Amino acid sequence: MQRPQRPLEQAAADAARRHAPSGLGLDSQAVRQRMVRRLAADGALPEPVLDALAAIERHRFVDSALANQAYEDTALPIGHGQTISKPSVVARMLALLMQGEAAQRLGHLGRVLEIGTGCGYQAALLARLSHSVVSIERVQPLSERARATLAALAVPRLHLLHGDGRLGYAPRAPYDTIIAAAGAAELPTAWLEQLGAGGRLVAPVVDPAQGAQRLVVLDRGPGGWLRGELDAVHFVPLKSGIE
Ligand code: SAH
Repeated sequence: MQRPQRPLEQAAADAARRHAPSGLGLDSQAVRQRMVRRLAADGALPEPVLDALAAIERHRFVDSALANQAYEDTALPIGHGQTISKPSVVARMLALLMQGEAAQRLGHLGRVLEIGTGCGYQAALLARLSHSVVSIERVQPLSERARATLAALAVPRLHLLHGDGRLGYAPRAPYDTIIAAAGAAELPTAWLEQLGAGGRLVAPVVDPAQGAQRLVVLDRGPGGWLRGELDAVHFVPLKSGIE
């Protein structure tokens, strides 16, 4: 006979059930290692980024029906018209952030602001590479689902907020690192203001003339902000307000 479950045991059992039907089970480590080896072969990625990609189980952040595609280099739907970013793009952004002045000095990403929590995958990677992470999502059901997933994985030093990330989060500013997973034509002023000295921001920005997005890297030096434009990318739009 089964004894009745106490609330905590019940919550743990519910979380285990949510994650159980991944179809990947204990083999996921080998599949993940293969993904990391492919990413490492394609681009110069620092060791800590490779370690984080090897440690975080991407299949836990997507619907179980998509879990068998979780270690392919592809964006996948996470509901509400949003997507989890491609691993190679996430890796590239993390590598760029690790080269920021503050990150180089600290040996990690320091205090991080992430805009666009989505399913929480990138937030989990950031948590491994930093001192602390504030992550903002405008779609409440996505924010809540990310909270449950990240709680089940016991990701530490992570503060999730439901709100409009274009405003940043002033109470925890300044940040050593700011990263956005959604793009608009302009970088919101709040992000520039909340970036600390020596801090680095990486975000997609839409070029209105071409309608295409590029990754922008912005460093805050003693004389002000220094901006560079890099790879062409495809992120979801940075929207205003909350849902
Ligand atoms: N890093 C995420 C990527 C999610 S896609 C992951 O690993 O899953 C980008 C996310 O940005 C979407 O969930 C979208 O809802 C969110 N977003 C768009 N505009 C936003 C805004 N103004 N504030 C906060 N989140 C926003």
